[in-house]
This record gives sequence, structure tokens and C-alpha cells, in this order.
Amino acid sequence: MHDPDCIFCKIIDGKIPSRKLYEDDLIYAFHDIRPVAPVHFLIIPKAHIPTLSDADATHETALGRMLSKAGELAAEAGCTDGFRTLINCGRVGRQEVYHLHMHVVGGPDPLPPMIVFER
Ligand code: AMP
Ligand code: ZN
Repeated sequence: MHDPDCIFCKIIDGKIPSRKLYEDDLIYAFHDIRPVAPVHFLIIPKAHIPTLSDADATHETALGRMLSKAGELAAEAGCTDGFRTLINCGRVGRQEVYHLHMHVVGGPDPLPPMIVFER
């Protein structure tokens, strides 16, 4: 369930600090440390699922919770007129942290049309 070497598992456990937005029995949400937009946070399952490719039917409740909470959390974070979600998966998706996470990105102005963000 938890990987002792995983940075996001450590965040869930409180061993690494985070700016938490929300937590329940299945998911945890916190601000991204390197935001690409005025609002940029991550929603993660508490279970250590490395990538979206590793998700299966046993994870459906947590994955559904991630989606069903996104709008409410985005609105609370200041997204008044929409936002974007993104899940990078694996090498081709340029996933950096191998604990499944959904980016929620937005702000007052429309985002660039592409899903590639320059840092
Ligand atoms: P990805 O490329 O989808 O794997 O993105 C990983 C995201 O995690 C990046 O946007 C990082 O800025 C973010 N990140 C990495 N470490 C932390 C941390 N300690 N707290 C918050 N966000 C982090
Ligand atoms: Zn993990």
C-alpha cells in the first residue's frame, strides 16, 4: 500500500511537509511545489499506485474520488471558470514522480491550448 521510498507516500504520512488542500480515507490533495499556473495542485490516491498503467478495478473508488472531488477543490482554490486536469504516465508521459497523481491547473485566465507546459 505504501512505499517507504516514495516522496508522495511520505507526504501522505506527514514525513515530508505539504500545503494540504484536502484529505479523506482514499485521497490526498496538496499544492504543487512548482506551480505552472496561479492554481496548480495535485490529487493523489493514498494507495501507492505507481502509474495510471498500474491502476486496476480495485482502485476504481479512489480514482473516482479523485475525479469527483476535482471541481469542488478547484473552485475552493480559486478556479471560477474552469480548469485543466492532467495525469502524466510513464516515460512517454514524462512522469517524474512514480505515485499516480492528477494535476489540477487553472487560474483567472485561459491556459495555453497545448497540454505541454514550459517551465
Ligand atoms: P509529473 O511530471 O506529472 O510526475 O509531476 C510531478 C509533480 O510533482 C511536479 O509538478 C512537481 O512540481 C511536483 N512535486 C514534486 N515534489 C513535490 C513536493 N514535495 N511537493 C509538492 N509537489 C511536488
Ligand atoms: Zn507512493
